[in-house]
Amino acid sequence: MAELNLPARVRFAPSPTGHLHLGGARTALYDFLIAKQTGGTFILRIEDTDTKRYIPEAEDELIKGLRWLGIEFDEGPGKGGPYGPYRQSERKEIYFEFAEKLINSGNAFYCFCTAEHLSKVREVQQKNKEPIHYDGTCRDLSVEEARKRIAAGETYIIRFRTPKTGTTTVRDHLRGDITVDNRVLDDSILVKSDGWALYHLAAMVDDHLMKITHVIRGSEWLPSFPLHGLICRAFGWQEPVWIHLSLFLKPSGKGKMSKRESAEAIKDGYSIFVKDLEDLGYTPEGVVNWIALMGWSYDDHTEFFTLEDLIDKFNLDRLNPSPAAINFTKLDHFNGLHIRNLSDEELAIRTKPFFESAGYAPSLTKLTQIAPILKERLPTLDEVVEIAGFFFKDIILYEAEDLIAKGLSKEQCAKVIEQAYETLTNLPEMTKDLAEPLLRNLVESSGYSARQVFGILRVAITGQKVSPPLFESMEIIGKETVLERLMKARKLLK
Ligand code: GLU
Repeated sequence: MAELNLPARVRFAPSPTGHLHLGGARTALYDFLIAKQTGGTFILRIEDTDTKRYIPEAEDELIKGLRWLGIEFDEGPGKGGPYGPYRQSERKEIYFEFAEKLINSGNAFYCFCTAEHLSKVREVQQKNKEPIHYDGTCRDLSVEEARKRIAAGETYIIRFRTPKTGTTTVRDHLRGDITVDNRVLDDSILVKSDGWALYHLAAMVDDHLMKITHVIRGSEWLPSFPLHGLICRAFGWQEPVWIHLSLFLKPSGKGKMSKRESAEAIKDGYSIFVKDLEDLGYTPEGVVNWIALMGWSYDDHTEFFTLEDLIDKFNLDRLNPSPAAINFTKLDHFNGLHIRNLSDEELAIRTKPFFESAGYAPSLTKLTQIAPILKERLPTLDEVVEIAGFFFKDIILYEAEDLIAKGLSKEQCAKVIEQAYETLTNLPEMTKDLAEPLLRNLVESSGYSARQVFGILRVAITGQKVSPPLFESMEIIGKETVLERLMKARKLLK
C-alpha cells in the first residue's frame, strides 16, 4: 500500500471514561505498529470534552495500560509535541474558530431551536415512522440575523449544513467505497450550547492539525463516517486513510460484548479490561499476541508473534473487517506460549509479586531455579502460588486420606512411603538423575502403578495432588526436607 511508504502519523484518541479495554488496546497497538514500521509518530490524544462521563483517573490508567503492553506514544499529554495541547479539553477555542470558518463558508449554521421545539419535531417524526432528524427550522437564517440574536443573548448551537440532494462517497481502507444518499444525513450538531465542540468537529480538526495520515478507529463510527468526510471536504482538507476495525462479539459470537458479558467473563477468570488481565496473571506479550490476531492475520498458520515480530510483519491490507467473537481460550493459549518463551530469570521476576501478595517472600534465586519446571504447566502467572507455593512453605498441610492412592489400603501406602524413604536416604544428594531410576524400580517391585506410587509421594512431598514434575521438585526441595516430609507422612498414616 503506497501510503505506508511515508512516515505515518497515527493517533489513539480514547475518551477517559473508564479502563483501557481490548478494543482500545487493539486500536492503539495497530497505530503503534504502523508508526514503528514507517519510522512515523504515534500520538495519544485524550478526548475529554464529555464532562458527564469523565473519570479523572482514567487518563493515567490508560497510559499505564498502554505502557504495560509495551506501547509507548511519541506525542501526547505529559510528553508534549509540536501539535499540542493533546487534551481536547484544552482546545476549546481552536474548535470554535474552525466552526466559525464553516459558518462563514456556508457549511454550518447557527441554530436557536429550543429543546421543546426539537422534542415536538421528534414526536411527530416518530409518529410518522420517519427517521429522527433536524427539521431545518434555522437552516436558512442569514448569518447576520443569527449574529444579531446571539448578540441579544439567545442560546444557540452550531450545526453542519448537510447537502440535501445527491450522494456522498467515503472510502474505508478495508471496506472500499461507502456511498450514502445525502437525504438520510442529518444536520448534525458540531458545537453545543455550552460552546464545546462534539466529536464530529473536534476529531476532524485535530486529525487535520495534527497531520494524521491514518485514522484507525472502531466500526461504531461507520454511521457518522460520511459526515466526517463531508466536514473534511467543507474545509478543503485532504482526508486521512480511514480504517474502521472489526467489531468484537461476545464469546458466543451472538451480539456485541455488553456490560453483563464483561461481568460474566470476570467470573470465569477473564476480562475485557487490560488492568484486570494483568492482575489475573496474563503477560503483556500474550495479550498483545492475542489482540493482534483479533481481526488481523499474517498468513493462514503463523500464530506466535512478539511485539518486534508484529512491527516487522503487520500489514493494514491483511486486516479483516468482519466481526469476531472474543475467544478467551486463545488468550490462555497465547499466554502459555509467551510464558514458555520467557527466560528463567524473567519468569522469576514476573512471578515474584504474585508470591508476595500471597504472603510468601521468595528469593529471585530460588524462583529462577524453579522457573524451568513451572514453565511447562503455567497457564497464567497468578497460578504459581497454587502450583508452587509448597516450595516456600516450612510446613505443608494435607489430610492423611490424601496420601491414600485409589485401589490401595492405608497399610500399602504407608509401606510405599517407607520404601521410598529407605531408598532415598542412601543417596549422596537429591538429584533427579539419581532419584528417578530408584523410584521407578520401586514402582516395578511394588507391583502398583506409577500413578499410584508417585501420587502418594507427590502428596507426601509437596502437600498437593497436582504439582510441577515430582523429581525436579524433589531436587529443588533438597534431600533433608524430602526425607523429613516422607517421615512425617509415614507417621500420619500410622
Ligand atoms: N474518542 C473516540 C472514542 O473513544 C475516538 C474515536 C477515534 O479514534 O476517532 O471512541
